[in-house]
Amino acid sequence: MNKKIKVAVIGGGIAGLALTTQLVKAQHLDVHLYESAAQFSEIGAGISFGANAVKAIHLLGLGKEYESIADKVKAPYTDIWFQWRNGYTDEYLSASVAPKVGQSSVHRADFLDTLIPLVPLSNVHFNKRVQHIDATADQAKITFMDGQEVEYDYVIGCDGIHSVVRNHVLDSHQLPRVTPQFSGTWAYRGIIKFKDFQQAIKELANDPELFDVPQMFLGKDKHILTFPIRQGEEINIVAFKSDRTQTVLPENTPWTKSVSKKEMLEDFADWSDSCQALLNLIEAPTLWALHEIQPLETYKNKTNNVIVIGDAAHAMLPHQGAGAGQGLEDALILANLLANPQLTRETIKLVSGIYEEVRLERAVKVQHTSHESGEIYELYSPLYPSFEEIGAHLAHRFDWLWQHSLEQDIETATTSLQKELQQKIRMAG
Ligand SMILES: Cc1cc2nc3c(=O)[nH]c(=O)nc-3n(C[C@H](O)[C@H](O)[C@H](O)COP(=O)(O)OP(=O)(O)OC[C@H]3O[C@@H](n4cnc5c(N)ncnc54)[C@H](O)[C@@H]3O)c2cc1C
Repeated sequence: MNKKIKVAVIGGGIAGLALTTQLVKAQHLDVHLYESAAQFSEIGAGISFGANAVKAIHLLGLGKEYESIADKVKAPYTDIWFQWRNGYTDEYLSASVAPKVGQSSVHRADFLDTLIPLVPLSNVHFNKRVQHIDATADQAKITFMDGQEVEYDYVIGCDGIHSVVRNHVLDSHQLPRVTPQFSGTWAYRGIIKFKDFQQAIKELANDPELFDVPQMFLGKDKHILTFPIRQGEEINIVAFKSDRTQTVLPENTPWTKSVSKKEMLEDFADWSDSCQALLNLIEAPTLWALHEIQPLETYKNKTNNVIVIGDAAHAMLPHQGAGAGQGLEDALILANLLANPQLTRETIKLVSGIYEEVRLERAVKVQHTSHESGEIYELYSPLYPSFEEIGAHLAHRFDWLWQHSLEQDIETATTSLQKELQQKIRMAG
């Protein structure tokens, strides 16, 4: 008889895949990943990881793979996350510094490509879209759109902002479902060649740090960010525009669409020459409607055998470059808890409460502060009404997020589990 604990991971984005790379190593688990798409895939854009996320990647044992593709900014700017500037004049305001990490970024697809070989294909099932989940105290039943049903001891929903696993978790507590909310902010995205931007800034005789250092240009209801990817050969650009009075999208509005360069340039017509040169290099911009979800009260279902992680649990606005990083922190804590070989089909449920205890409060704080950061960048926050006050504040705003001790979180989580397991064993004896 198969005595292994059956674990299903739903969704193979960054959170689900990173978690599965670790779970497949555990002899006491029989892990299967179900992905709705025909293959693993990520969008063609860059992603930046804060010092905490880079630490999580290393603690997950994925450091070697990550560092082989990650970009670092060159000395003497190695420790700088972003320089903050006035978007109308390029005036330097301040810089946020993350010692030893600075700005660490990758192309999303490259990152996923390093994780994929670490999960045996026999553990992965593509074209499997989960329709709904039912759970009793003994089993969780997953029903797919194609009609197939499978039963698992434990289910981990990593199915992103539209999560159906989240629906089950909330329904089980009779809590209202949480749906994505439009923030009023749109993001133009594009990737350009570093050399082209370097040349444009040289022609304008502007500050070389504009191309050598990751930048955040700030302005009223708008901001633009740049960071390097692909060994510094390319620059990832996101240009944001907001109307915070328009937070309801007309029905059937696509969340992502191609737009003309002209439309994008018109939005930033009163911005600095450098910003316009930067945007002018984006040949085929896309426009994204940015959504978030309200913080959840819980990440686990009533019977403690179904949980959510990543965007399924805490989809947030991208203004601290922290969303995927929070998913990686979730994966890290769960990987450490589920690695305990004493777990059984019954006691695995203890993991859910401990995971929630360690992760929920911090992830909710990151959701709130990400939202708030966008308001500060775009001169919308009454707390920081001038460029000078914004610059002074941003220099240290993210220290708590980056310098958090993940080692301590692992210690807290694994010690709690050990205690609870011993208590169960004593009670059974
Ligand atoms: C403009 C923008 C910029 C960003 N920049 C950053 C950044 O710089 N740094 C950062 O850390 N974060 C950033 N983020 C956030 C980051 O992209 C997300 O937090 C992260 O990608 C979420 O990963 P995930 O694995 O939780 O979910 P997803 O990437 O959404 O993956 C979910 C997976 O589940 C699958 N799936 C969905 N439904 C089902 C179903 N019913 N059944 C089976 N499978 C299913 C999907 O196909 C997908 O593969 C940014 C976001 C945006 C919008």
